[in-house]
Formats: sequence, C-alpha cells, structure tokens
Amino acid sequence: MEKLRTVRGVHDLMPDQLHKHNIVINTGLDISEKYNYSQIEIPIFEFAEVFTKPLGKSSDIVTKENYVFKDRSEDELMLRPEGTSGAVRAFLNAGLVQDLPQRFSYYGPMFRYERPQKGRLRQFKQLGVECLGLSNFMSDIEVISLGYDFLEKLNISDKIELKINTLGDFDSRKDYRAALVNYLKDYQSKLSGDSLKRLWTNPLRILDSKSEVDKKIIRDAPNILDYLNFQSKTRFESICKGLDYLNIKYKIDKNLVRGLDYYCHTTFEFITNELGSQGTVLAGGRYDGLSKILGGTDIPGVGWAAGIDRLALMIENKFVNKIDVILIGQTENTNFLLLPIMKKLTQKGFKSEIIYTGSIAKKFKKANKMKAPYAIILGEEEINQNLIKFKDLKTGSEELLNLNQAINKLKK
Ligand code: ATP
Ligand code: MG
Repeated sequence: MEKLRTVRGVHDLMPDQLHKHNIVINTGLDISEKYNYSQIEIPIFEFAEVFTKPLGKSSDIVTKENYVFKDRSEDELMLRPEGTSGAVRAFLNAGLVQDLPQRFSYYGPMFRYERPQKGRLRQFKQLGVECLGLSNFMSDIEVISLGYDFLEKLNISDKIELKINTLGDFDSRKDYRAALVNYLKDYQSKLSGDSLKRLWTNPLRILDSKSEVDKKIIRDAPNILDYLNFQSKTRFESICKGLDYLNIKYKIDKNLVRGLDYYCHTTFEFITNELGSQGTVLAGGRYDGLSKILGGTDIPGVGWAAGIDRLALMIENKFVNKIDVILIGQTENTNFLLLPIMKKLTQKGFKSEIIYTGSIAKKFKKANKMKAPYAIILGEEEINQNLIKFKDLKTGSEELLNLNQAINKLKK
C-alpha cells in the first residue's frame, strides 16, 4: 500500500525537532514575560477580511500565499498568515483601548502557500510580540532589545546581524515614494514583472525584491534617509542611540522595508547567514495605522515576529529521553502489581515504564537498550515479602527494599 503523505511544506514534528521548537518557544515566552508582555492566544482561522484589509489586495500574502476557504455557512475564512492583524483585532475586541499600553506575546502556526525549501514552509510557527498604545520611540527600542535578548538566550546572537531602517512618517514617505517612482520609471523595461506591477501600487516593496536585476537597479535608488523630515530623522537617531546604550550592534540598511501600507518609522530584521537564503529569523517594525484599518481607534503599535522553525534549525540542544527506572514483572499477572508502583513513582516525579511482555531476559535487554539506570523487579519471592528488588543496572548490584526505600535511592 502506498504511504499516506503530508502536504508539501507541511511537516510532522517528531520528538527531536519538537524539543528544539519548545526550547525556542519557552525561551521566547519567558523573556517576553520578563519585559511585561503577557501571552495571548488568538484563532488559527478568522474571517478573511481580518487579513485582507490590513495586508492590502496587492500583498503577496493575500494574492499568492493565502489559504482561503468558505465554510458551510458560506463565510469566507482564512488560515492566518501572520499574527499581528489577529492580535490587534483581539485587542480591539477586548475593549482595551482605554487601558494603554498593552503588551502581548503569542506563538503558533501560520499558513502561507509558498514554495517549500529549507526554512520556508507552508505551515510554520511564529512567536511574536506586540506593544500597543505607545508612540514613544522608547517602545521601538524596547521591542528590539527584547528580540535581541531572546536570540542571546538561545545562544545564537553572535551568529546574527541586526539590520535597521526607518520609513519615516507619512509625509516623509510620500516625498520619498514620489522620488523613488521617478527614479524607477526609467527602468521599466528592465524591472521584473512583479516589480513593474508594484511600481504604481506599492513601489516601496520593490526595494525588497529578490530578483537580481531589480537588486542592481535598486542599489542606486534614492535613499529614504535623505527624505526624512526633522521629526522622523531625530526619532530614528534616538532609536539608534538607545541601541548603542544597550551595546546592540546594528547596520542601517536603506532598502529594508516592510511592504505593507500601515508600516511607518522603524523596520528591523535579525538575519543569519547560517540558513542559506532564508536567513531572516526575526522581523518587525512599527505599524501605527493598523488598528484604524481594522475599524478600531487609531492606536500606535510596534512589534516583531520570529520564525520558530528557522530558529530551531540553529540551536544545538539535543533531545534525550532519559528514563529513571524500568519496571519488570516476572509474569504478566505481576503487571497489575506494578501499576500502583508506577503511579507512586510518577507522583514522586520519576519517569518510568513497565515492560509488559517477553521473558525476564528480554525485558532486561530492553531496559539496557533504553539506558535505564535502575530496574524495579517483582518476582514471586518479592511479592511474598511485600518488597521489591531494586537493581542498579550499571553495577548489577541488587537489594530487597520496600518502595519508599527504593524511592529514596532514586532521589540520590
Ligand atoms: P521572507 O522574506 O523570508 O519571506 P517575510 O517578510 O515574509 O519573510 P514575515 O512576514 O516578516 O516574513 O515573518 C516573520 C518571520 O517569520 C520571518 O522572518 C521568518 O523567520 C518567518 N517566516 C515567514 N515565512 C515563513 C515560512 N514560509 N516558513 C518558515 N518561516 C517563515
Ligand atoms: Mg514571505
């Protein structure tokens, strides 16, 4: 029979991999909590407009990468491609606009119909943080610092570079956009198809193009930093200053943009060259217009999302299934007597397993294969005396003990 497959770009996580994912997740949630970000959980699917409204009809996520479907009541739903829209929607629905700022963290699966490759999946996980209600530049520094500490806790910050840029405020961006279009329109015959389409709809996105020809053209494009008005410029300088205070190294990358209309001011990415071309492990920015687009009050926000799958590829922690004690009965009937023993061991915090079948010799062989340090053995003699045989599987030494004595030995 043919084996059942999983969908392309959608993977099982077996213990080895899940172990690494969980380390990434726990580290991220833990450091976020220390920065006073409280964890929330939002739905994996929502009405499609939660994503289409803010992301815009021209974004990749909405045009090419989305998983949309109609349910039985003909509602148009979407598997979430990212976390920020849902988090801001949840914040608005919870009526928290009177109680600012709010700081949230979340993690979970996201879905994008992408071309699968290393570090690029169709179902992947993100861990993100959102700081809502603060327009002060200090909050931009705060989230970048949180991102950096997260990577530092994972012991990978030395393999990662921080790139940072600013898109300025609305006015600065408007001037820049005009200058950029003016520059790019001379290259219309050379630009890639995608970029050509964006020239009039979303020209800033062209700066983000992966096409080599586009990249060459972009190299000499006008620099956003030359178009910042005074407020936008001093804001950006203050953020850089904050990073200096934290000793966080960064590179200013004038072409670092987030392609969505509601992004403004700070954009940043933490990038590694250890993962081939999928090197961005954590990316974020300021998104002041988002809550208004979602139909709520105008609330500023800044945050980031990290790719858990990519980070998990970078950490070295190995999964070891270390068992404390193996339980062996002489006959299958003895297994019944092992049940309450196992229960007691579990309550005391020990990991154990009963080997149900096979000869005694086979059971010991299995216990050795599992690298168990100890075995508890119940034979006729032990049952009669209401004791257990406690065996050190390394030295081979055995003693007759009651269960409490055995537990005390395990504790050592
Ligand atoms: P990319 O340029 O790699 O497509 P993006 O700009 O689409 O990234 P964001 O939407 O900013 O990515 O998502 C934040 C992070 O989530 C990325 O930096 C990356 O680590 C991770 N990520 C995004 N898409 C995928 C995917 N398809 N598979 C695995 N991780 C992903
Ligand atoms: Mg993408």
